[in-house]
Amino acid sequence: MKIIMLGAPGAGKGTQAKRIAEKYGIPHISTGDIFRANIKEGTELGQKAKTYMDQGLLVPDDLVVDLVVDRLGQDDCTRGYVLDGFPRTIPQAESLDAALAKLGEKMEYAIDVDVPDENIVNRMGGRRACVGCGATYHVVFNPTKVEGICDACGEKLILRDDDKPETVQKRLTVYHQQTQPLIDYYNNAGILKSVDGTMEMDDVFDAIVKILGE
Ligand code: ADP
Ligand code: AMP
Repeated sequence: MKIIMLGAPGAGKGTQAKRIAEKYGIPHISTGDIFRANIKEGTELGQKAKTYMDQGLLVPDDLVVDLVVDRLGQDDCTRGYVLDGFPRTIPQAESLDAALAKLGEKMEYAIDVDVPDENIVNRMGGRRACVGCGATYHVVFNPTKVEGICDACGEKLILRDDDKPETVQKRLTVYHQQTQPLIDYYNNAGILKSVDGTMEMDDVFDAIVKILGE
């Protein structure tokens, strides 16, 4: 099962991708998580990516595509995967299609988690990320048991630098300009499915399971 999650930053792609990965037994591959892990480890890739991420800009395609194509070649991807945050531009989508075509494969589902901009600002402002395991919460919609502490690993939660209000607006503009055209791209490819991402998390997941099958 090969799945792409589409949607604005903060729409709930990561939240749903984790649940899809668990239910269908496939890896959750988030390019944002990969970059954040590289930043934490202080790699050269992390240092390069950070300069773009901090400004709310996309990391250049050439730093992203090879990384993902390599990842998809790993053993745990033979039964499929759920891609979260990739592709984010038409050239990335074309490169992905080309890499899959070489293997005689095709993307199967592009699921657009549809949330209007006015809800996004609240979603991202309230998002809290664990510095230890990367788990994501929301101060109102998905709070931890103890404020500021990760339920999963006990580490501290932070507001991501790029979730600060001044960067959120920039990321939304970038989304509309560079990523939203992928909705038409995958619609034309006949694999686009949309879900109403303003519903509660469980209801969004139920809608996705209806699409993917039990
Ligand atoms: P994305 O991966 O698309 O950037 P996330 O999955 O991290 O988005 O979700 C953004 C924020 O919104 C998180 O704090 C998450 O807990 C919260 N969230 C996700 N889905 C919903 C939902 N259906 N209703 C309310 N809040 C949600
Ligand atoms: P995310 O965690 O998906 O919200 O991604 C955080 C940031 O990482 C984005 O704002 C971009 O700067 C960068 N990023 C993640 N995935 C990509 C991608 N596929 N292409 C370019 N930049 C990306």
